Amino acid sequence: MNEVWQKATDRIRETLGQVSYETWIQPLNFVELRERTATIEAPNRFFCEWVGDRYHEVLRDSLSAEAGEPIVVKLTFDAEALPTRARVDAPVKPAPAPSRPAPAAGGDLHPGLPPRYVFNEFVVGASNQFAHAAARAVAHQPGDKYNPLFIYGGVGLGKTHLATAIGHHIWATGNGRCKVLFMPAEVFMNELINSIRRDRMGDFKEKFRRVDALILDDVQFLAGRERTQEEFFHTFNSLHSERHQIVLTSDKTPKEINGLEDRLRNRFESGLIADIAPPDLETRVAIIQKKAALENLPLPAEAALYIAQNVSANVRELEGCLTRIAALASIDKSPITTDFARMALRDLIRTHEPKPDIETIQKIVADFFHIRLLDLKSKKRTQHIAFCRQVAMYLCRKLTESSFPAIGESFGRDHSTVIHAHNLIARRIANDSAFRFSIDKIERELKTTQANAA
Ligand code: ADP
Ligand code: MG
Repeated sequence: MNEVWQKATDRIRETLGQVSYETWIQPLNFVELRERTATIEAPNRFFCEWVGDRYHEVLRDSLSAEAGEPIVVKLTFDAEALPTRARVDAPVKPAPAPSRPAPAAGGDLHPGLPPRYVFNEFVVGASNQFAHAAARAVAHQPGDKYNPLFIYGGVGLGKTHLATAIGHHIWATGNGRCKVLFMPAEVFMNELINSIRRDRMGDFKEKFRRVDALILDDVQFLAGRERTQEEFFHTFNSLHSERHQIVLTSDKTPKEINGLEDRLRNRFESGLIADIAPPDLETRVAIIQKKAALENLPLPAEAALYIAQNVSANVRELEGCLTRIAALASIDKSPITTDFARMALRDLIRTHEPKPDIETIQKIVADFFHIRLLDLKSKKRTQHIAFCRQVAMYLCRKLTESSFPAIGESFGRDHSTVIHAHNLIARRIANDSAFRFSIDKIERELKTTQANAA
């Protein structure tokens, strides 16, 4: 990597802080620095525009400072990464920054949508920052650029919340005149079946094709439903050609939805795809605190931390735990202390994802990559084994509370090797969604193993 870029990004990390840095700067790919022009590649168009908007100056200034002369920053993206978009090699003109605030809770809300699911009540962290930014961009300029927006992620991670927030916002900015239709894919199918049965397909078509924004929740449900897919395909095309916004959510990427027709898959992939990952500890704490504040629940920071440390599956579960604690506290007329939280969650947490230890991680990783545990822990340096070892080190750091030196010891290495491995894998995860999926898969396997052992 170019030294100027390396130093400039170190500088940017300090300026922006770790979360923004990891989300927006780390995934950038430095291409070259020639004739005072630094060419930097972003993973996709949305990313490119967002970075151009927000971080262009920071990039320019840090690069110029490190190079000792004024540097022009040229941001590009690989158009091949997103089908159906024109290739862009020229510097991308930054889009105007979305600046209008989200509608205030209780104020401009779509009457048919849950009032809690607004941007204001969504806590942003590294795991969902990209999807949140994408959703806001779409809410501010519906039908304009990222159409469709496809949000995917595991259960209870905020897909429906974000998609609904878009609906509220579009409705509010249109002063209630915009037709926003939010619908679970399953309901779409049921309505279709009823319309066919009652011979009212004309009405059905009319209803969907008249909307300004259509949000279809959980589209993975369309898998294998050929007739519904066919109808949705036409609805999609008709809305899209009129530049009406389409928002889709799913627990899988379009590629992973088996039983989805190729032509629909292509449509789903033709706009912007944004994922939501499980929240990290800091974000979980922030979510609990936000929910407690919204409920006027006095919750000491220590108790919030306790909950966040012990409940990590998804946000819905976090909410459930908080509700349970609040209910028990009100029955007992007791203040919520950490001890109280521990007592209230006792049964839930005992069965709840015990932390794997280093040996278990080593074993599962070795199994996953089909290498011998002995080799994983050996000094062997063949590329594949070294890579598996790095993955194992990364997961040990992420999932156990062990220090770098302690992890190093269990691999017969020193702590700097572990730090290096950790950074390498973290970077690759940020850059490569297929790789991130493999890592997720290993983590899920670990969870299952733990759950079965407990
Ligand atoms: P999904 O559709 O991905 O299964 P939901 O959108 O229904 O998940 O979210 C589950 C619950 O968690 C909802 O009550 C939602 O408000 C809450 N939630 C999820 N992510 C966040 C977040 N980042 N900040 C605040 N609340 C969240
Ligand atoms: Mg949902």
